Formats: sequence, structure tokens, C-alpha cells
Amino acid sequence: MKIIKYPTDFMKTRKEIKGKVGFVPTMGALHQGHLSLIKQAREENDVVVVSIFVNPTQFLPGEDFEKYPRKYEADRAVCERVGVDYLFMPDVKDIYFDDEARVTAPKIKGYILEGLNRPGHFDGVLTVVNKLLNIVKPDIAYFGKKDAQQLYLVKKMVRDFFLDTEIKECDIVREPDGLAMSSRNVYLSEEERKKALLLSKSLKRAGKLIMAGEKKCDVLKKAMEEILKPIEVEYIEIVSRDFEKIDEIQKENSIILVAAKVGNTRLIDNLWV
Ligand code: AMP
Repeated sequence: MKIIKYPTDFMKTRKEIKGKVGFVPTMGALHQGHLSLIKQAREENDVVVVSIFVNPTQFLPGEDFEKYPRKYEADRAVCERVGVDYLFMPDVKDIYFDDEARVTAPKIKGYILEGLNRPGHFDGVLTVVNKLLNIVKPDIAYFGKKDAQQLYLVKKMVRDFFLDTEIKECDIVREPDGLAMSSRNVYLSEEERKKALLLSKSLKRAGKLIMAGEKKCDVLKKAMEEILKPIEVEYIEIVSRDFEKIDEIQKENSIILVAAKVGNTRLIDNLWV
């Protein structure tokens, strides 16, 4: 595995890479969720590139940029073990410049749900993904459904900017008890970890109701609210796959989303139905 730090070095190397390139952008502190993306990239490409970059522009003032878990040594070892070919780990100063051009997220769908509670978050996400796609020039880039709105907006940006990369949607990987894996789960105390389970529990409940024939989003949201009472819910929402709010479940075209705070940790989870 080759570790590359500078964008210009990667771009030089990229010119010499032959075959299909699969790319998994991450912020590191790698867990099984990341590894499932890497595994899929390994299966579908000749060359696999992983980036680790804790992107400052997607954190709002007062968020956890400083304390976000950084485990570069362990991540490097994991990437080596799972057959990554290139690990791209740039510094902030080599990715961002003074008075530079930035991407702005769509005015509507970039500023609802996650974007409502974290205004500007998706401007930062899309800016860094745009930079990374231009540096790595992958044939396919892999994103997790865990960050459903991010995935939607990345796909939208790729279309809007005519970028020549296919975006693949990867399933959410969960702990055996249902908690969606996240680098932020390390913030949870034992007590909070139990409460965090309510997110996946509420989604499971909604899923069961749908299986039993329930279609009305109001009813599903109420049932979820009940389960989520012990924690501070930010939103429960049901949207179509292109993030339009819906009143009734549309099979194969709906996403049930939840965001909540457990202690000081903000968690998100969702269910694609
Ligand atoms: P992050 O390092 O949190 O920015 O995540 C990097 C990529 O991994 C994103 O595309 C995430 O959606 C994806 N990811 C994070 N957690 C999971 C998970 N539990 N299951 C599947 N993909 C995930």
C-alpha cells in the first residue's frame, strides 16, 4: 500500500494508474461500516483508493472538529490488511486555500433536515467531495446509506457538475444489537450507548408497521416518537429517495430518517423502504 500526502503527488501518480479505480472517502477512525465500502470497492475495481481527511469545513462552530477521533496508525494498518492500494491522507493546508472557490449545496435540499440543524454542513461536504473526486478521478466512489442526505446531495452534485464518476450506495452496517456503526459512537458512555439503541429500535418499529400494511407517515412518525421519548429528538422525517417529503410510504422509494442527541452526542440513523 502506498501512502500519499500531497494532492499534487496523487495527481501525478494517478496518471500512471491503469484499470478501474474505486474510491472510498472517509474521515478515518475506521470501523466495519467503512470496511464494507472498502470491501465492495476491492471486489469491483482493479485499484482501491481510500482517503482519510477530517474535513474542517463540514463542522459548524462549536461542533466536534477538534475532538473528532483520529486514529491514523490503526487506520493505516487496517487499510493495509484489507488490500487498499493507495491511502490518501492530505493535510488541511494542502486541500484548502485562501479566498478560494467553494461548492454551495442546493438551496432547498441542502438546507432541510441535517442542513437545517447544521446550516452550511453540506457546503463543506460537497466542497471536499468535489476536491477529492477531482484529485482521485475514480471510476466509482462508494458512499454509505447511513448518511442518506449526504449520499443524495453527492449524487446530485455529480450530475449537476457533470463529474465523470459513478456513485454507489452501500448498505448501513450495524452492531449486532442494531446500533448503526459510527466513528462518533466512541463518545457514548455505557448508559448513553443503551439509549442510543432507541434510534434503530424506532426504525425497526416503523419497518414492522409497514410490513403489516401501514402506509401513513403520520402514524409511523408517532410510533417512532413514542419509542424515542427518553432522548432528545431533533427530527423524525419520511422522504422519497430524492428527499421530497411524503405523506404515504412509497415502496422502494422511501427513507425514514431520525436524528437525536444522546447526552452531548448527536446521532443519525435511517431506514430505506
Ligand atoms: P465518515 O468517515 O463518517 O465520513 O464516513 C465515510 C463513509 O462511510 C460515508 O460514505 C459514510 O456514509 C460511510 N459510513 C459511515 N458509517 C457507516 C455504516 N455504519 N454503514 C455503512 N456506511 C457507513
